[in-house]
Amino acid sequence: MATFRTVAGPDGSARHRILSAIRSHGPLTRAQLARATGLAPSTVTEVAQTLGSERVLIETEIVRSEERRTGPKSRALAFEPSLSTTVGVDFGFRTVRALVADVAGRPLASGRAALPVDYDAERGLSVAKGLIDEVVGRAGVPMPATAGVAIPGPVDTQHQRVVGSSILPGWSESDAGDFEAALGLPVIIENDANLAALGEHTFGAGTGVANTITIKFHSGIGAGIILHDRLVSGVRGGAGEIGHVEIDPQGPLCRCGKRGCLDTFASVPAILASMRPQHDVESVAELLALLAAGDAGAKRCISDAALTVGKVVATASLLLAPERIIIVGAMARAGSVVTLAIRDVLEREGIPQARSVPDVVLGELDDRHTAMGAVALGLSAQGWLPESIAPRVPDRGFVSAG
Ligand SMILES: [Zn+2]
Repeated sequence: MATFRTVAGPDGSARHRILSAIRSHGPLTRAQLARATGLAPSTVTEVAQTLGSERVLIETEIVRSEERRTGPKSRALAFEPSLSTTVGVDFGFRTVRALVADVAGRPLASGRAALPVDYDAERGLSVAKGLIDEVVGRAGVPMPATAGVAIPGPVDTQHQRVVGSSILPGWSESDAGDFEAALGLPVIIENDANLAALGEHTFGAGTGVANTITIKFHSGIGAGIILHDRLVSGVRGGAGEIGHVEIDPQGPLCRCGKRGCLDTFASVPAILASMRPQHDVESVAELLALLAAGDAGAKRCISDAALTVGKVVATASLLLAPERIIIVGAMARAGSVVTLAIRDVLEREGIPQARSVPDVVLGELDDRHTAMGAVALGLSAQGWLPESIAPRVPDRGFVSAG
C-alpha cells in the first residue's frame, strides 16, 4: 500500500509555521517568511534548506510589488508543484464527483460523471479514474499527491476497508489498496456523511464550532459527528448511521434488511413516494418546484419527513449536546421548511431548563460538502490541517518526507 508524505511537520514547529505561511500567502522570500512567522532569519534559512533538499519547496524568481524594483530579483520559496494538490472524490448513488484543491483547500477544478444503478467497486473506480484525469487536466496541475474518497456506506477507517454487504453489495470488503491500484495515487477512504461533516467543519458552516452534528438529508440519511473538533467514526465506522434507526417495527423493509428504518420514511425516495398518486414527481428538482409554487402537499410531505428526521436528531442531541446541527444534502435545498421542522422537534424534546437547544443551520458548501471533506481528509493525510482539527488518519506506514 502506498504511503503519504506527511510534509507539514508538528503543529507550531518552525517547519509547520513556514509551510503554513506559504500555504496562506503563496510564494514568499526568506525575509517575508521571517516577518510572517516571527522566526529568526537564520532559522528560516536553515529550515528552507532542509525543505529544499526534501523537494518540498522550490525557488522561484519573482519580484513582488512591495519589494525593491531594482537590483537582483528576490528569490521566493514556493511549493514543489506535485506536492501541492489533493483530490476529493465523492461516490453517490448515481454520480461520482471529483474536486481538485490546492494545499489551502481552495478548489481548482471539479466535475461529475454519471454511474450506472447499483454499480460495483470496479465500475465505480474506473469511472472515477477517468473523471480525475479529466479534472486534473482542466486544473492544469500535476497528478495530486493524495486522494480522499467518500463512500456512501459504512467504512472501517482504521483498517481502511468498506464494511458489510447489505448497503453497498458491490463494494463489500474493498479496501484502500484496491482504490490506490485503480486510481494510481495514495488514497484514504471515509464514510460520506462523516466527510460532509468534516467539510463543513473545516471550510463551511461548522468552522470554529467544536461540537456539531451534520445531517446528510439525501437519498439515504446519515450523520457526521464532530466532538471537541474531532470526527467521531466509532468502531468499524458505524457512528452516525441514523438512516437505520427504527421508526416503526412494522414499517417498510429497508435495504439494510430491517423494517421501518428512518430511511424508509424520510429519505428522498420515500418523500417522492409519499407524494404519489396526487403528484407523479420523479426528482428533487420537481418536488422543490412544487414547493416553490406553494403546493401544500409538497410542503406537508417535506415537513413530515423533516419532523421524523428531527425525532432522531433530538435523541442524538440529548446524548451528545452539540452546539449546532448542520443540514446538507438534496433536501437542504428545501431551506426553512426543513430547518424549522427540525428546530421545532429539538425545542419540544430538549430538556426545558437546559437552554441547550442547538442552532439548526444549512450547510455552506452547496453540494460540494462531501468532496470538500474528502479534500480535508487528503490534506490531513499530508499533515496540512492543524492537528487541532485534523481527523486521526490510520496508522499504515505514513512517513515523513525525505
Ligand atoms: Zn435500514
